[in-house]
Amino acid sequence: QAQLGYFGMAAEFIGWQQPLPDQTGGAPLLLLDLGSLPEAEWHDRIQALRQRFAMGRLICLGVRSDFEQLQQALRSGCDSCLMAGTPAHAIVEHIMELNERQEQEAYRVLIVEDSRTASHLIRRTLAENQIVSEIVNDPRQTLNMLKQFNPDLILMDMYMPNCTGVEVARIIRQHDEFLSTPIVYLSGETNVALQVDAMRLGGDHFLTKPFNPVFLNAIVKSKIERYRALRRTMYHDSLTGLLNHSSGKHMLDMLLSGVAHEGGFLSVVMMDIDHFKQVNDTYGHPVGDQVIRSLSWLLKQRLRKHDILCRYGGEEFLIGLPHTDAEQAFAVMDRIRQDFAQIRHPYRDTHFRASASGGIATYPLHQTGDALIKAADEALYQAKHDGRNRIHADEN
Ligand code: GH3
Ligand code: MG
Ligand code: MG
Ligand code: MG
Repeated sequence: QAQLGYFGMAAEFIGWQQPLPDQTGGAPLLLLDLGSLPEAEWHDRIQALRQRFAMGRLICLGVRSDFEQLQQALRSGCDSCLMAGTPAHAIVEHIMELNERQEQEAYRVLIVEDSRTASHLIRRTLAENQIVSEIVNDPRQTLNMLKQFNPDLILMDMYMPNCTGVEVARIIRQHDEFLSTPIVYLSGETNVALQVDAMRLGGDHFLTKPFNPVFLNAIVKSKIERYRALRRTMYHDSLTGLLNHSSGKHMLDMLLSGVAHEGGFLSVVMMDIDHFKQVNDTYGHPVGDQVIRSLSWLLKQRLRKHDILCRYGGEEFLIGLPHTDAEQAFAVMDRIRQDFAQIRHPYRDTHFRASASGGIATYPLHQTGDALIKAADEALYQAKHDGRNRIHADEN
């Protein structure tokens, strides 16, 4: 309960003997400690919760990792299980991840199809499943549209005037940034040899027209899920889920060119955990990892969706705040710093606290991504030098 509270989530404890609260709005997460309940009662208890919180998500704790207990818990109606002995931080992590998945952006599909009637039918079918799409009727516009729309998947017709779908797929595959974008053919072509050939030349799947809408949506969704998972491992850090070093720098440059174009401020922050070597030495590396994660959760919770959040190094974070001057950046980051210092990190039967320092540099005072990072790093050094657990904004 306390750990969730640090990251902005309210939790309420209800004993098995207490009456269930009235249905609350939204879709609450319910953590059930089945370990404290006889197995014979699981079904009725879980069903009662299911009825009371129809939109809720049920996570069972304290389940043994054997086949029978897992089967019993899942059959009774829970959504997922965390095994007996799962440490509190792993439970918190599971909840944080679920929360992120719910906030995901809509899936985006680019439809390359010369027939206007066919393309609108496909678009409508996807829209019924909350999938956003754009249409390209002239295949020669595909590259422009790819860059603008940045889709998660391409639905490709086979036969179009001027070129074939296979040719378009091959042209797409000449561009590194679209090497792994899934391409699914949607065509009346029933010749298996031609279908196989199309996939050999850069396609991922072949669906025949007339298409089954349920099947089309299922294929599109599962391909996109895998594609997004792949992108996560390419561009994000595995410990924290934040952008990794190189994609963080890349995103900062992108953000900077946007701000330079529109005018306004951009603040860059370097944040680094204080005396982190001591944390590792005293409590061990896995506990150190947990401290890194908790700072990243706090940052994720506090910063805005369009801010850049990157794990720049071991216990070092790079943050980009568009449309934010040094004073505003200081206010936000100093609040985060204070709250981080309040977190009690559990260790065996006790807990400890950690702190972090930050340095801020701002555009247009510093003009390039590299200059901003260097100046923020120098400001961080100053904060460390001044005694740590503080934020220093560069002032010249
Ligand atoms: P300062 O206050 O000056 O920042 O002191 P510090 O001890 O934090 O100094 P420094 O930045 O040099 O040390 C960082 C340490 O973080 C060194 C390294 O062993 C540890 N570290 C780097 N990456 C990881 C990681 O992924 N997990 C854990 N647990 N430790 C890491
Ligand atoms: Mg056609
Ligand atoms: Mg450090
Ligand atoms: Mg460091």
